[in-house]
Amino acid sequence: MSEPLVEVELVRVRVPLRQPLRSAHGEEAVRDLVLVRAGLADGTSGWGECSALARPTYTGEHTAGAWAVLLEELVPAALEGRDAGVVGHPMATAALATARLDAALRGRGRRLVEHLGAAHGRPRERVAVTAVVGRAEAIDDLLALVAEHVAAGVALVKLKVTPHPADLAAVAAVRAAWPDLPLAVDGNGSLDNRSLSILAESDLAYVEQPAPAEDLLTSAAMAKRVGVPIALDESITSLGALETALTVGAGSIVNLKPGRVGGLDVAADLARTAFDAGCGVFVGGMLETGVGRAAAAALAALPACTLPTDLGPSSRYVEHELTEEVEVDADGHLLVPAGPGIGVTPIPERLDAVAVDRSLRCR
Ligand code: MG
Repeated sequence: MSEPLVEVELVRVRVPLRQPLRSAHGEEAVRDLVLVRAGLADGTSGWGECSALARPTYTGEHTAGAWAVLLEELVPAALEGRDAGVVGHPMATAALATARLDAALRGRGRRLVEHLGAAHGRPRERVAVTAVVGRAEAIDDLLALVAEHVAAGVALVKLKVTPHPADLAAVAAVRAAWPDLPLAVDGNGSLDNRSLSILAESDLAYVEQPAPAEDLLTSAAMAKRVGVPIALDESITSLGALETALTVGAGSIVNLKPGRVGGLDVAADLARTAFDAGCGVFVGGMLETGVGRAAAAALAALPACTLPTDLGPSSRYVEHELTEEVEVDADGHLLVPAGPGIGVTPIPERLDAVAVDRSLRCR
């Protein structure tokens, strides 16, 4: 689905988060990212979001680099109707691809979730939610935050951890306070055998990314050693990476992020491949604005995505969403936006309030 483009606008935004998220790879307090608007000849526009973080501490991509690659390579190629021939940069690529897909779907009055569902099975309209809780300074603060999420009806709580004794103690404290709570941890590649063994005592639904992204054999050895399912996040960069991970037994759950694999259609294919291989699958979060959140929610609604999504409602992250809010229902389930395309659009005055750079390129 690639109608010819007549213009592409890049908008770099800095959106303050309600609460900074601390993890093994750093802290995000302001979400600095690139939005892409793709314009078609009939005046229809679509939006996509580049999920790269401000600094290259999570994956090799970062916001300033994504801006440059989009401006110098991906956007000119798309406007000229040729292949960009760019290696890597899946998040920048996905942002432009999603903007084009959104525009094409809007032109046809079709929802993204219907487009993905046509090839991947009847999607749901609401999705169970995981609350991802960052590393806290004090255990009491963490317990208070978890209590809020439990009251809001989340299906699972996931704690960001490192091997630091305070993090290990925090997980044990949460388990002691809520003996029946579905609980998981995310090591973001930082865990060792000792910390993993201690964490495994807390009856976890899964341990996410204990070993660094490329260390699939370490992850496989860890999976064998502890009786807890291993979820892979940073490791899942492509269909080939997924197949290698499954072959060596590096994990049995997949955290899928459409930006990291180059777009929504690729991500949907990966979800189905993982599901067919018997893996649990869920859609992860990248501290999205409404544009990225709405698009990822449609992916999370596919039947192959069997586990609660890390995507939360807009209100969890920001005071004022850039778009219409992505919301949860009374039971705490995330609602897939109802409109055509990704279902939401940046509200001009809100976009103006957080935009720090813009660039418009025309054919
Ligand atoms: Mg993760």
